[in-house]
Amino acid sequence: MAKIKTTWFCQNCGAQHARWQGQCTTCKEWNTLVEEVVQKEKKPSWDAASGDTLSRKRTPQPQLISEIDVTETPRLDTTNAEFNRVLGGGLVPGSVTLLGGEPGIGKSTLLLQVCLNLPYKTLYVSGEESAQQIKMRADRIKQNATNCYILTETKTQNIFRQITEMEPEVLIIDSIQTLQTEIIESTAGSVSQIRECTSELIKFAKETNTPVLLIGHITKDGNIAGPKILEHMVDSVLQFEGDRNHTYRILRALKNRFGSTHEIGIYEMLGHGLREVINPSEILISQRGNSLSGTAIAATMEGMRPLMIEVQALVSTAVYGTPQRSATGYNLKRLNMILAVLEKRAGFKLGQKDVFLNITGGITVDDPAIDLAVVAAILSSNFDIELSSQHCYSAEVGLGGEIRPVSRMEQRVNEAAKLGFEKVFIAPAKQKFKEVGTDVQAFSKIEDLVKYLFS
Ligand SMILES: [Zn+2]
Repeated sequence: MAKIKTTWFCQNCGAQHARWQGQCTTCKEWNTLVEEVVQKEKKPSWDAASGDTLSRKRTPQPQLISEIDVTETPRLDTTNAEFNRVLGGGLVPGSVTLLGGEPGIGKSTLLLQVCLNLPYKTLYVSGEESAQQIKMRADRIKQNATNCYILTETKTQNIFRQITEMEPEVLIIDSIQTLQTEIIESTAGSVSQIRECTSELIKFAKETNTPVLLIGHITKDGNIAGPKILEHMVDSVLQFEGDRNHTYRILRALKNRFGSTHEIGIYEMLGHGLREVINPSEILISQRGNSLSGTAIAATMEGMRPLMIEVQALVSTAVYGTPQRSATGYNLKRLNMILAVLEKRAGFKLGQKDVFLNITGGITVDDPAIDLAVVAAILSSNFDIELSSQHCYSAEVGLGGEIRPVSRMEQRVNEAAKLGFEKVFIAPAKQKFKEVGTDVQAFSKIEDLVKYLFS
């Protein structure tokens, strides 16, 4: 009987320590070390299960660099346009993708829906729900799946045994926190279990060229539960986000070895599953047609895709001593900066006002081009003068009160024209716009724009 070997793992960064200590020396977090049993005696399960029996298992051979085929590896089309876009054009054979997101946001629904539509033999392994529950969910989604197999199992040894028998072309694991490998004695969801199970799955993916999709839960502070190294181990990390109270969900890539991380996918959560939103601008603008004070529309870009976003502001006199500032979907520091610029450069006394800012649809915007719409919405609410709903704004605001140009102006203006906006307010740009069917008005200073809009 071998002596039981234990090690202390940091639950935050996954670092290994020989003994307990109050602070992790690697990531400097306090009270994150937990003792876990490690016993590396048996063979890792994927090696044990596969042996040499699997027909698709390949052992890499040395290759002459001049003979390496550089033609792009064909990707697997998931038939889900938004999902393909975020992945960078489809699933890469042999890649391992981690899908993170808060509990209840719809990760399982998304992957089950993708899985049901895949034209490949797919194995969906669930440690979270029973086969009946998954079937009921699949019935709600109403897809005629002919290639999708369900396995409810948490032991990696058993999963790999099934894999060697059925040889799936795509593997989905729901979720990585429920998996358990026999070679480690700690409980499912602990750092060493997650790390060992992931590395076994990565080995399987690379050796058989099978794409693997993992679902991972997110902790309260927004990190994927388990060691940070999980994110370093996989090829791509996708995040499924959105407000549980809103019906819109955004899929974005936080890391992607095979494509850009700028693309987003937008879905609408319906009773029967997720609907791909092909033209997001239309849904994010709520009240097109009737003007309201405090509302302005920004022409922003998310990745390569233009997106029209509605900005709402409410400015009112502060009842208590310290005025409140709050921003949803927009950086609060940036809001404070814009308010300071308006006060200092344009002479507006907003210091004693409560300012609330909201981006509709529950999405978060990083694109600085939204600044000008924020300014317009705040002033519109402050003066209680409504802005035309046929106007939109796209420019960054600098500390000197100057209006600065942003990238891909032509694409933004074109999108505005396509959606029927009559006028786009931008920063002075050198480039000339071709006939776009909408009026383009440039201002170089906040004061000039204010004069134009409110006098
Ligand atoms: Zn640590």
